[in-house]
Order: sequence, then structure tokens, then C-alpha cells
Amino acid sequence: MDLPVDGAFCHRLPKAELHAHLSGSVRRETLHTIWQRKQAKQQCLDLEDPSIALKPAGDYPTVVSFFQIFNKYIYRLLDDAESIIDATMSVLEDFRKDGVRYLELRTTPRAVPEQGIDYAEYVHLVREAIEGWNLARWFHNAHAYELEAHLILSVDRSMTLAQAMEVVGVAIANQEPLKPGCASRVLGVDLCGNPSVTPISHLAPAFRRARDAGLNVTVHFAETFTSATNAELEELLSWSPSRLGHAIHVPPHLIEEIKSKDIALELCLSCNVLSKLTEGGFADHHFGMWRDSRCKVALGTDDVGVFESALSNEYRLAAEHFGLSKSEVVGLARSAVSAAWAGKVRMTKLLDEFS
Ligand SMILES: [Zn+2]
Repeated sequence: MDLPVDGAFCHRLPKAELHAHLSGSVRRETLHTIWQRKQAKQQCLDLEDPSIALKPAGDYPTVVSFFQIFNKYIYRLLDDAESIIDATMSVLEDFRKDGVRYLELRTTPRAVPEQGIDYAEYVHLVREAIEGWNLARWFHNAHAYELEAHLILSVDRSMTLAQAMEVVGVAIANQEPLKPGCASRVLGVDLCGNPSVTPISHLAPAFRRARDAGLNVTVHFAETFTSATNAELEELLSWSPSRLGHAIHVPPHLIEEIKSKDIALELCLSCNVLSKLTEGGFADHHFGMWRDSRCKVALGTDDVGVFESALSNEYRLAAEHFGLSKSEVVGLARSAVSAAWAGKVRMTKLLDEFS
């Protein structure tokens, strides 16, 4: 077990992905196919081919330019039922092929009034896509589910409280499986979006409502210096999140609070290094600090469609740059499972069988 870790080992490892955004996880080839279909229908004629519009992974000079890709491009391309369903199914298939066996996929509900899509309908389309894909795989794989997929609904930092309340209301209405026998449901809510948009304190009542309704909470935390003021971080911790995304610029006194409250960390190596959210290379990533702190850590891809590093590659990178043995990599996979909001028994069994 303690031989060097390679890509094949990380690929076979049953993995739990807890930090992946749906729109950012769509492969360029899938976006290209959707773009071609829309062009043939004379739709989105002003949108460039994704192979031109999307830059290589490390070519986003600022975090703001990265978010513009979503607001000005991907969201416009994925603005009808067929595109949303196709994109969701392709994302699930890509995670499955990478050996992900448990997925909490997050998405920000979007309204497209000209298509008759509101937040509730958007989430319904994504859930139908998950169930349709799962059913197809169930028939294909001798009636066994390969990937347990759930949803997290994201509140964008730029939303008004009324919009955030609407997202939380849709999350509450989707806490149960769509049909008997289907596992997929909404497990929690997230705070995401451009970290230069502040403040976020007006959104607190929405997260309180989510907590009161039994939903789990995760938040993007201290992604940039702008969003890492003591006031914002203390505000976010007061929302009782059980997990934090990124957690880059965290002051020492809050590191102690996070440890004492046993809050788990969702850490994304390639995303942070390639988008220059962290200084230096992979070996300088704060994964090393959090791992040594004995907090639960879950490696995640964030936006594999943009950064083009699958979860198996994130495990390989962690092993390479932090000198992890195979048993330590399996331990890291178990750490992610311990931070998951469902599916622990099944994933623990899969990891026991793998070890
Ligand atoms: Zn994220």
C-alpha cells in the first residue's frame, strides 16, 4: 500500500467530490456541441465558439475575469431546458468516468423568463437530468447505482435577500427524493460568487432559514483578501457552516475557531494555483497547513471544465507535492467522506473494499 502514488491508483480510488460547480464543470467539448446546436437553430449568434471564448486554464489574469466567463458566456449558453439537461448529464458522466462515486454538485438557480424558467423550474430540470442519467446507468450497470449524486443550491453574493430567500425556499422544497427509489436530493446551501462583491451580511436571514429547515450550510470562505476581512469571516462563521470552501486567507484566531468547531475544509488545489488565488506553486498550497491541523479536508475540483484537472488528478497532485503514500491518499479520501452530508456508509464500504 505504501508504494508511490500514480494516476491509475488515484483514478481507481472511490472518491467523494464535495466542491464542484455545475456550470464550471462542463467540458469544453460539451459546451461546443451545445453551441453548435444553438447556432444551427439561429440562437446565441453573438456568442463565440467556446474553443475560442474559453482561455486555457492558467490564462485568467484576475479572479474577476474568471467570473465574467460565467456571467457573460457559460450562463448565456446554458439558458434553455435542453442545454441545462445535456450539460448536467455530461458532468455526471465525466465524474463517473473519473472514479467519483459520491457527488455533491452545487449550482446557482437561474431564471430565464423568456424560456419560462424560474429558480424552481431550473432546479427541477437539473434534478430530472440527474434522475434520468442515474436510471440509464442503473440499467447499464446490472441495476447498481455507480454515482450517488446530490445537489447544493448556491446563493450568489450579488443576490438581494429576496433572491436568496427564494433560493433557500426552492432548496427546502427539494429536500426529498423526486420519486421512490431515487436517492438524489438537495442537501444544503452555499454562498458563492465574485468575492469582490461585498458586503454579504444582508444574506444572513436566508442562511438562518436554511439551517432552521434542516439544510446543511457551506460557504466560500476567505477566497481573496477582499473577502477575508475579520468582519466578513466572523459573519460567515456565525451562519454555522459545517464546511468552508477554499479557506485561503484565514487569520490565526479563526483557524483555532474552525478547529474547535470541527468545521471541514473543501480545498481545490488546481483552481487556487492556476487562478493565482494562492501564491507560489502546488507545494505552497494551504492544503499542507490544514492537513497538519487535523481538520477534515475534502479535495475538490471547483470548476473542472475551466481548470481541466479531474478529481483523480487533484489527489495525484496532493500526493506528488506533499509526499503522500497510498495509505495516506486513501485516508484523504476517507476524510472527504467524513465531511460529506450523505452516503457515508456506502462510501466507507467502497473504500474498505478498495483498501
Ligand atoms: Zn467554488
